[in-house]
Amino acid sequence: MDNRLIPITKTVDALVIGGGPAGSSCALWLHKLGVDTLLVEAGDRLGGLQRRSPYENLWIPGVMGQTGEQVAEALHAHIVAAGVPHLLQTRIGNIRPTAEGYEVTFGTTRVLTKHLIVATGTKPNAGPFQPSDCVVIGPGHPMENLPVDNRKIAILGGGDNAFDQARFVLQRGAKSVTIFSRTTPRAQALLQASVPEVRVIVGPYTADPARLTVNGDRFDGFGVMYGFMASVPEGLNITNENGYVEVNRDGETSRPQVWACGEVTDYWHPCVTTAAAHGIQVAKQISRRLARTPATIPS
Ligand SMILES: Cc1cc2nc3c(=O)[nH]c(=O)nc-3n(C[C@H](O)[C@H](O)[C@H](O)COP(=O)(O)OP(=O)(O)OC[C@H]3O[C@@H](n4cnc5c(N)ncnc54)[C@H](O)[C@@H]3O)c2cc1C
Repeated sequence: MDNRLIPITKTVDALVIGGGPAGSSCALWLHKLGVDTLLVEAGDRLGGLQRRSPYENLWIPGVMGQTGEQVAEALHAHIVAAGVPHLLQTRIGNIRPTAEGYEVTFGTTRVLTKHLIVATGTKPNAGPFQPSDCVVIGPGHPMENLPVDNRKIAILGGGDNAFDQARFVLQRGAKSVTIFSRTTPRAQALLQASVPEVRVIVGPYTADPARLTVNGDRFDGFGVMYGFMASVPEGLNITNENGYVEVNRDGETSRPQVWACGEVTDYWHPCVTTAAAHGIQVAKQISRRLARTPATIPS
């Protein structure tokens, strides 16, 4: 359907795409700074990647004894309690600049916004694999749901998540865990040392997910830990050669009044605290910009 046939449903000052720690924090601050804001999230709850994590999050200063999931739930509750306008289960597909502003259309809704904030984070990199009952992509809940008891598990990848998940799989009673890493593992030395019982095979390998074999050796399950890749809505052309959104020090992209924050920008140390802080910095910049001059958006 031609987007122009859909009537404009809403006009806002700032539309935040993605309700993880970066987008939720950005929307919360914008709202509290008096900016007319709409937060749009593809999932059915806010909290982003933290929803995948059943593990205790030990890394947020001042927040203790909470799992990732609980951190996500607290973020969700905060946005609701603060009255930040938001839409769930709404995936932003296409965005285009217009004379009136950036136009974002989803389903039968068309929103015009002066400022657009991309906080769409990352998703686990599946490489050539498809998820199945025996093949899990990325860390967290999906791995925890993989049956491992007395089974032989192969983990593909050599980063922190590969070694972390190997440890959890062993704790859950796996018979053996083998990590296959094409290059020397990049995981922190401490993490590698924490799983001495794991076999690590370095070098090229051929993994067959249908037969569950790696280099011909049969396993009962695969965990694919190939890192994460940026999730970027189409239509903006703001990504660098690695597929992440390029921003300046203020968090603004090469497109005027299009901003990005959190992991989608390949933040130098991605975690909940840095993602939230980045979202807040962007919110402050936008509120300053709006206070200084009314936004004008080139067509
Ligand atoms: C298993 C696991 C454990 C972790 N443990 C920790 C930890 O202990 N401590 C810590 O600090 N960090 C941890 N992290 C990392 C932390 O979760 C991330 O750094 C953080 O969530 C990044 O926040 P973000 O807002 O940039 O992106 P995300 O959390 O990825 O949020 C992006 C949001 O955007 C939404 N979205 C994407 N595309 C669209 C679209 N087109 N339209 C609408 N919405 C969209 C997604 O659904 C998602 O909710 C962990 C991550 C994982 C996977």
